[in-house]
Amino acid sequence: MSEKVKFEKREELKQKPDPKNLGFGQHFTDYMLSYDYDSEKGGWHDLKITPYAPIELDPAAQGLHYGQLVFEGLKAYKHNGEVVLFRPDQNFARINQSLDRLEMPQIDEEELLEGLKQLVDIERDWVPEGEGQSLYIRPFVFATEAGLGVHPAHNYKLLIILSPSGSYYGGDSLKPTRIYVEDEYVRAVRGGVGFAKVAGNYAASLLSQSNANEQGYDQVLWLDGVERKYVEEVGSMNIFFVENGKLVTPQLNGSILPGITRKTVIALAKELGYEVEERHISIDELLESYDKGELEEVFGTGTAAVISPVGTLKYEDREITINNNETGPITQRLYDEYTGIQSGKLDDPQGWRVVVPEY
Ligand SMILES: *Cc1c(COP(=O)(O)O)cnc(C)c1O
Repeated sequence: MSEKVKFEKREELKQKPDPKNLGFGQHFTDYMLSYDYDSEKGGWHDLKITPYAPIELDPAAQGLHYGQLVFEGLKAYKHNGEVVLFRPDQNFARINQSLDRLEMPQIDEEELLEGLKQLVDIERDWVPEGEGQSLYIRPFVFATEAGLGVHPAHNYKLLIILSPSGSYYGGDSLKPTRIYVEDEYVRAVRGGVGFAKVAGNYAASLLSQSNANEQGYDQVLWLDGVERKYVEEVGSMNIFFVENGKLVTPQLNGSILPGITRKTVIALAKELGYEVEERHISIDELLESYDKGELEEVFGTGTAAVISPVGTLKYEDREITINNNETGPITQRLYDEYTGIQSGKLDDPQGWRVVVPEY
């Protein structure tokens, strides 16, 4: 099982970036993992670790034209010299769900996790150790078959690239964000691809994102695609509300991305004794509850941003300020617990951390 993946060494290693100025997703390591699929040659083959470099792609590659492209995002952390991944099994399970929805071939989850561990082991010097820093891991799969006929491709490429990163929004990771509730465009509808991590969902969100930015907001909160009434999720995060000390979050309904951070926060909150409800939440309910003084905290969850407090919500002609634009106590507690377990500062009774061995 832990057979060594083929490894092509590069001549010279790159210079590592200044750890004080990492940003998010701007620097890439020396190597990447690559895997090819050919339905004619028995499927997935040629798993290897190669120098990070541009790839050759036929201009007619179907992934460029018809959008068969799915991805994942997870992180590796370093603590006391040890490098760990956080719930990586969940990411490989989810990439298979996304692949399935786009009629792309399944991967062997264990084989890819093993390949990832070997890649991260080789790159362990690239895992930053500072507060809020991590090695961001981006697996993705896209169609490479050349041809403009519309059909599921016969050839695909899977790559995993690595990027040493600081906190997602730069600077203070717990600075409350300003959110624009989008009431014109929608992100996804049930029966579509909203639950899958596909590139097209992001392409469809950029116009709204730009409009929100122009008006002084950081992110967009999406409403459901049919009634535009129920809250779904934020840009690249799931969303939680604290009403009267109780956590509420939209239930997974097919159009919401089933976040691993969301799932972990729900488990963690329950363990800490909070009540958690997954249900429909209308924007009107939230405003009513705000007016009654019962909407205490709002925060988003996602691998990149971890847990991110929301300070402002703008919907139609109203703008409301949550908890005086400060990080609330429950948000702070969940953030501390979550990042404590992730980084290895706190115990991990659930076994969420996966240590990267030295091969
Ligand atoms: C990836 C993603 C999330 C967060 O999922 P995590 O598994 O917690 O990182 C939320 N919404 C969208 C649209 C996403 O693509």
